[in-house]
Amino acid sequence: MNRHFDLLVIGGGSGGVAMSNRASSYGAKCALIESGRIGGTCVNVGCVPKKVMWNGANLMHAIEDAPDYGISIASQKLDWVTLRRQRDQHVLDLNGIYERNLIKNGVELIHGTARFVGPKTIKAGTDTFTAEHVVVAVGGRPIVPELPGAGFGITSDGFFELAAQPMKVAVVGGGYTAVEIAGLLRALGSEVTMLLRRAHFLNDFDPMLREELMAQMQADGIGVIAQTKIAKVEKTPSGLRITQENGEVVEGLDGLLWAIGRRPNTDRLDLRATGVAVDPAGAIPTDAYQATNVAGIYAIGDVIGKLDLTPVAIAAGRRLADRLFGGMKDRKLDYQNIATVLFTHPPIGTVGMTEDEAVKAHGAAEVKVYETRFTPMYHAFTRRKVKCAMKLVVTGETEKIVGCHVIGPGADELMQGFAVAVHMGATKRDFDDTVAIHPTVAEELVTMRGSRDAVAQG
Ligand SMILES: Cc1cc2nc3c(=O)[nH]c(=O)nc-3n(C[C@H](O)[C@H](O)[C@H](O)COP(=O)(O)OP(=O)(O)OC[C@H]3O[C@@H](n4cnc5c(N)ncnc54)[C@H](O)[C@@H]3O)c2cc1C
Repeated sequence: MNRHFDLLVIGGGSGGVAMSNRASSYGAKCALIESGRIGGTCVNVGCVPKKVMWNGANLMHAIEDAPDYGISIASQKLDWVTLRRQRDQHVLDLNGIYERNLIKNGVELIHGTARFVGPKTIKAGTDTFTAEHVVVAVGGRPIVPELPGAGFGITSDGFFELAAQPMKVAVVGGGYTAVEIAGLLRALGSEVTMLLRRAHFLNDFDPMLREELMAQMQADGIGVIAQTKIAKVEKTPSGLRITQENGEVVEGLDGLLWAIGRRPNTDRLDLRATGVAVDPAGAIPTDAYQATNVAGIYAIGDVIGKLDLTPVAIAAGRRLADRLFGGMKDRKLDYQNIATVLFTHPPIGTVGMTEDEAVKAHGAAEVKVYETRFTPMYHAFTRRKVKCAMKLVVTGETEKIVGCHVIGPGADELMQGFAVAVHMGATKRDFDDTVAIHPTVAEELVTMRGSRDAVAQG
């Protein structure tokens, strides 16, 4: 069967769903092709199930702190099966909500794997579809390294399928998925070792954040082996054994998680039939309006390899729909100053430039830094201590805030409001003039005094 649409979206994840719902609201005849469960990475194997696990991990920390507040808790035992069941049910509920919303909004949902057979002609199963506009929103998938025994490990996708808690785990990788899963597993009671290729994790983040997080994770008992490369993985009677290139081993593991990056899902699309260019990593380059090099074909979300975040994919999709079908001809996403949170223990919230990026962009003489480190009141008398660190990166005489970085309890929730201020061009003076909310962690961001010169970290 051949059918024609105004808009055909490939991929029913964060970006694709947002794009088709918005386009449909303008009256566009729109279809969405999804090969798996609706909601994509975020709903099924990303943000949502991860946050449920993080919430559980936070409860474990709270239970640990409870006796210091005079509250006795009889048992601190995790029932992984219950946690998993509750989490998976929530994900299923969301699948249903997403699907019903699409149908309610008039989007035609096609279950199948799409591939191009012509520039704007797509096949899914035995059906062929054409459209005026085609949006590629196929996201990505986790990478497994090519080394002997790598198949004994799992990725973040496999993590969400674990029927039982792994009690002795190695997490390989230094990105946000690695630190998040390592942190929550440790809080839930697993023994965790991280293996890093470089000296540090989170290399794209401000050094203050990664140094504080490293110190806290080690204080929480996470082992860190830095600057290592894995040679092979073997299954032995006493568990998995990782041999590093220097001959040292990590053994007796009942879990190995590869969190070494993701690759865009472009290799299964037959993009050659369209002429759409992909970069060496498999991502689709786009212009500021999400347009590829082929007229009428666009790409949004993780597949463009720019900022792998759900709200970014959603915002790009909605703005593209506004432009193509809503008459807003200049509408596009501004990729500057997009805030992000890492659900680590403690969490990290960050927006804008790192100190180093600001020095490179503005010159060291133009950049100043305000910094503070303290123990939040919650931990004043708990045996488990968690520190908070904050940094404001400012430029020029007006001390415009170009970077705001926080690690500590509450950093996840406080950053959204501060991101608005940074997005609006707030200066240090604006922060100083804002009366604090007391007693909170966030108040420290509007009471910082005494700057230092910025230094390039290289
Ligand atoms: C463990 C983890 C935790 C994360 N946590 C966060 C977080 O806390 N906050 C945050 O903002 N982001 C988080 N992310 C990132 C976030 O999930 C992604 O940025 C977001 O899902 C990208 O949306 P997307 O629409 O580009 O792609 P996806 O959500 O990946 O959707 C792509 C969809 O396309 C489908 N598809 C692929 N190929 C085809 C084909 N040929 N035909 C039909 N369908 C196809 C896939 O099945 C998938 O459903 C996390 C990611 C991971 C892995």
